[in-house]
Amino acid sequence: MITTETMPLWKDVDASISLTRYIREDTVDRPVMLVVPGGGYACVCRSTEGTPIAERFASLGFQAFILNYRVAPERFPKPQQDIFRAIKLIRAHAKEWHVLKDNIAVIGFSAGGHLCISAGLLYDEVDASAGDAADAESARPDAVLSAYPVVTFLGKGHFGSGKNLLGDEYEARKAEFSLETRVNENTPPTFLWHTVEDKVVPLENSLLYLDAMTKQKRPCELHVFQKGAHGQQLGYGNEDIAGWPEQAVKFLKVICGFKFPHKHTGKTIILTFDDACKNHVKTVAPLLLKYGFGATFFICRFSDEWRSQHADTLMDENDLRLLHKWGFEIGNHSWNHLNMAKLTPEAVEAEITAINQLLISAGLPTPVSFAYPGGPYCENLNDALTRFDFRYARTTEKRPWNPEEDPKYRIPAIPISGTDTQPFMDAVAQAEPGKPVVLVFHGVPDTVHPWVDTSPALFEFYMKYLADNGFDVCAMKDYLA
Ligand SMILES: [Zn+2]
Repeated sequence: MITTETMPLWKDVDASISLTRYIREDTVDRPVMLVVPGGGYACVCRSTEGTPIAERFASLGFQAFILNYRVAPERFPKPQQDIFRAIKLIRAHAKEWHVLKDNIAVIGFSAGGHLCISAGLLYDEVDASAGDAADAESARPDAVLSAYPVVTFLGKGHFGSGKNLLGDEYEARKAEFSLETRVNENTPPTFLWHTVEDKVVPLENSLLYLDAMTKQKRPCELHVFQKGAHGQQLGYGNEDIAGWPEQAVKFLKVICGFKFPHKHTGKTIILTFDDACKNHVKTVAPLLLKYGFGATFFICRFSDEWRSQHADTLMDENDLRLLHKWGFEIGNHSWNHLNMAKLTPEAVEAEITAINQLLISAGLPTPVSFAYPGGPYCENLNDALTRFDFRYARTTEKRPWNPEEDPKYRIPAIPISGTDTQPFMDAVAQAEPGKPVVLVFHGVPDTVHPWVDTSPALFEFYMKYLADNGFDVCAMKDYLA
């Protein structure tokens, strides 16, 4: 259940000029959607372009707000001061209201669209201070969304909105408030949608703005629908239009980098990466960081001869330090990557010690996770693993890990490689709460061991799949911790 609270924006202005906040029961930090209804700067159509829109974006995972702003006979800069004050208040209460301070979007309709777009252009020009702590916050929205917006008061614009906003100054200032003339290199990314059949605020308004943004090389998307008069709101009964909120969320995710908490399913995937491939640092780790995923990187060095031929594909000490700095786990995969079942106890000890020494000399912690080179469980390593205080050792046995039954030095994991996506899908489908699935990847791509190759594009697809489907993704050491 989501409830609301409404607070006045100013001490000395009518209390109906206000910010309404949708209160969630959880305490997860989320992006903001500040909803700004239209009404030609003459009224605020809250029941049609306020409440239903805020409810929809709340259901899409936002902290939702509705702005009630001043309109005619009040003139510029009053409506702009109201939206800036609202943005500052939201930022000032970010902790308390569980808001991601740099993920603040505004969505306006018709003249509310003009107000939102102007907010992205005039945030430094209009004084919205109120004499409290919120004054110190930025008034700039991080992204601007507008539905069938009024943009211009020239050509095919909506003159009534302009006259209501500017009053006696309309003729003198109408060009200045034709927003397509104001786009600059700091204008926030903008998402617009419009219908071809809109006769009240013609499509040209959005086309002009897209053109102006594109000329300034600013990110802008315009979605045009064929049918529907002005004021389609959520596109009720019009299946063609009705998907725009989801499209807007994709814009915020992909183009603006907004962060959305994923829905927790209680299913965990443990990601492990073998053989110290250099592209784990260059390609894999940045993507994992983007999704907030943890992972374990198992380090080996191979033989001197191999290393002399492939040094450029193998991580160096700086790479290891970088992975550690980014919060990833670094594990031991033995120095020479030999079949450990055939080694003497002395050789086993030397293989493990050499990697531990490498990590220690790079200034990294002693590893607590080990991965058997080549994959198979080697019973003869138990004593050494215990002596070196390893907490986990990973094999490659193609089944989920049952932490209550599997011995700690025989954790099963499923290798993923090649171009067929089915093994990955089958593997992650086996994850259940309490029974994580451990995956093993090699190079992304793997040019030296092509039989365990995964292409960067496919890897990206896999990570997105895990994020979109609510998996928790972590390192070996983090699962039981
Ligand atoms: Zn390996």
